Amino acid sequence: MPHFLTTVRSKEDLETIQLKGLQWTCRHAYEGSPFYRKRFDDAGIGLEDIRSLEDLQRLPFTTAADLQEQYPWPLRSVPFEKIVRIHASSGTTGKRKVMVYTAKDIDDWADMFARCYATAGLSRADRVQICVGYGVWTAGVGFQLGCERFGAMAVPVGPGNIDMQMQFLVDFQPTVLCATASMALLLAEEVDKRGLGNKVAVKKVIFGAERSTDAMRSKIRELFGAEHTFDIPGLTEAYGPGTGLDCQLHQGIHYWADYYILEVLNPETLAPVRNGEVGEMVYTTLRKEGAPLIRYRSRDLTRLISGDCPCGSLFPRHDRILGRSDDMFIVRGVNIYPGHVDEILAAEKGIGSEYQIHLDRKEDGKDYMTVLVERASDGDPLADEPLSRKIERDLRKELLVSGAVKIVRYGSLPRTDRKTKRVFDNRD
Ligand code: ZN
Repeated sequence: MPHFLTTVRSKEDLETIQLKGLQWTCRHAYEGSPFYRKRFDDAGIGLEDIRSLEDLQRLPFTTAADLQEQYPWPLRSVPFEKIVRIHASSGTTGKRKVMVYTAKDIDDWADMFARCYATAGLSRADRVQICVGYGVWTAGVGFQLGCERFGAMAVPVGPGNIDMQMQFLVDFQPTVLCATASMALLLAEEVDKRGLGNKVAVKKVIFGAERSTDAMRSKIRELFGAEHTFDIPGLTEAYGPGTGLDCQLHQGIHYWADYYILEVLNPETLAPVRNGEVGEMVYTTLRKEGAPLIRYRSRDLTRLISGDCPCGSLFPRHDRILGRSDDMFIVRGVNIYPGHVDEILAAEKGIGSEYQIHLDRKEDGKDYMTVLVERASDGDPLADEPLSRKIERDLRKELLVSGAVKIVRYGSLPRTDRKTKRVFDNRD
């Protein structure tokens, strides 16, 4: 069995790895990073205070604002001679988050990502067309690194370039496609439009970097004739994509708890959420040298899934990324995150995969939410009225706030090969 699969033998073993990794990380960060040393000293915490995994909760948090303040080398805990690469987030506002990597960090990331491909059930005979961005961000190089470590054949195309993508899908017969969900949908619709359905061999689609809706996933499977879609979570601050993957039973994302500890906390109170409740993902890395994370608030929202997966994996699970705590919006005093709207719409019949949420404040001073939903490609416009009333009822029941639903023509909402913007807040 390849080494990247065999590191954890039991739950006790995992806890031992985590405690050792936590103690190592605290020492490494304290000794190597003036930022962390000051944080520990200010909080009055000494290295000898970290005796059990529960002691993690005594440690101070790290935030995106901390990273920005330390630009360009936030959290750096090793001398520059040990750094072999940098990556940066594609953030559009403020300064980019730049992370430094040692040779061991790159090696660990490749192992984690190779484990993802193994979890998706790939073999070395698989061919992997990688349609995510290459460059300073972590996506392309991460997918490729993992593919090569795993031993499958990488076809590095990057995003866009639709004609080339179509040609490669037919000529090289890739069995696995890696793309953002928006890009995968675009490619699937193009395959359909060009009548290439019988000529492509894609069996598995792995989504990175963006939340995908159930409707998008099933449309992509249908148009490609694929068997599985997977969601790969990932965050530049924690290596990049590849920190976990759902197994072929799709009952949650197994995450690599031998590389990091994941806490799910209420973003307002920073206390652990109740079992199964949605909260913010907070990362503490266990082996990361260049820029270790200690209780790093990612702003990504998910929930932990309790119990054992029937697949037998010892790795714990979290749900898909359900949005960003920054994307969470408040309508009439109710917290709403787009992922929740995804889930509700996914259960509706007669609609397409795309939707938009518009928020307005009217003269009466009240907030109004309007949800634009695409009719299914074969939907009947005469059914719009009862359909929109039904979705309005379902949204009200689930979100505890009312909104108007407007059905629009299939294909009328924008498709992009990048992240799809879904919430338009027009309130001042
Ligand atoms: Zn599983």
